[in-house]
Amino acid sequence: MRKDSAASFKKVLSKATNIVIITHWSPDGDAMGSSLGLYHYLKLKGKKVNVLVPNEYPKFLEFLPGDKSVINHQKQTKKAETLVQKADVIFTLDFNSFGRIEELGKSVQASKGIKIMIDHHREPDNYAQLYFHDINASSTCELVYELIEALGDKKLVEKKMATCLYTGLLTDTGSFRFPSTTANTHRIVSDLIAKGADNAEIYNTIHDDNTVYRLKILGYCLSEKMNVLPEYNASYISLSGEEQRKFNYQKGDTEGVVNYPLSIRGLKFSAFFSEGDGIVKVSFRSKGKFDVNQFARKHFSGGGHKNAAGGKSDVSLKQTIANFLDILPLYKKELNDSK
Ligand code: 5GP
Ligand code: MN
Repeated sequence: MRKDSAASFKKVLSKATNIVIITHWSPDGDAMGSSLGLYHYLKLKGKKVNVLVPNEYPKFLEFLPGDKSVINHQKQTKKAETLVQKADVIFTLDFNSFGRIEELGKSVQASKGIKIMIDHHREPDNYAQLYFHDINASSTCELVYELIEALGDKKLVEKKMATCLYTGLLTDTGSFRFPSTTANTHRIVSDLIAKGADNAEIYNTIHDDNTVYRLKILGYCLSEKMNVLPEYNASYISLSGEEQRKFNYQKGDTEGVVNYPLSIRGLKFSAFFSEGDGIVKVSFRSKGKFDVNQFARKHFSGGGHKNAAGGKSDVSLKQTIANFLDILPLYKKELNDSK
């Protein structure tokens, strides 16, 4: 854990005029919620702020207040690059190595702006000048709220900020069920609801916004594509580009599919492989001691948390699965021992 003092944050922020907030490739609820939550806060403090994303995010996050102002580096490259160059301060949220923002990483690295990391993923790089990093935090949204508190500005939290931060807390904790959910998480959630976050409405907007296709992909993955490997307490699902087209796949449609096999009694490790953008995107989830951050780092150029991580593979889908099946025996004992 490294949380720099409120005094050092205040010093840097007091001198900053142009601020950029960047989050990771394929932003999720925590990435967008924390970025836009911080955006509303910094605007209230009188700063010029822009949120940049490396690529697009799912439609179900477009309800977040401030969504219209978000700049997509893939679509508005020049504008994004100029903002990074001119920034006095660059907040990097919900990731901790430049590899997670792809092309944008080069310009951030080259920028003279002071870099600040707010993040809860394991094994952070050390590119920043200021840190608010804690792997025990449920989400980056939790950390943004704690930072605002530490800066003595809790009273400034209003409905827009609360809505954004509540969203990331909800999605990164799997609706407050993962072990990362603590008494502190619930304390913050309580504050956010008191400040106007409409918990039932946010839940419905995110989770009851399926298209027919999305539900059919889920059904197809579970009935046709789930391979359970009892000798490893593991399961994997794969989805090719052709299968995605058949189900009119839209970004975000398979988010969460990887969690389902973990509800099988005794199962400890779930993997999901999907073709896209010339690579195979890999998602891992585990229960208990099995560390998928280590697994993703070691074998799939990725990382994340102990029980939720991702990565990529640049060989074919078929070969990626073959590699995965070759690696599994190395973990047989661990997968059978771990609680
Ligand atoms: P997901 O499987 O939902 O894409 O990601 C699970 C967790 O792992 C998230 O916290 C995400 O930020 C992280 N993650 C996903 N893909 C990568 C990757 O390629 N590299 C790293 N370092 N982390 C990843
Ligand atoms: Mn997160």
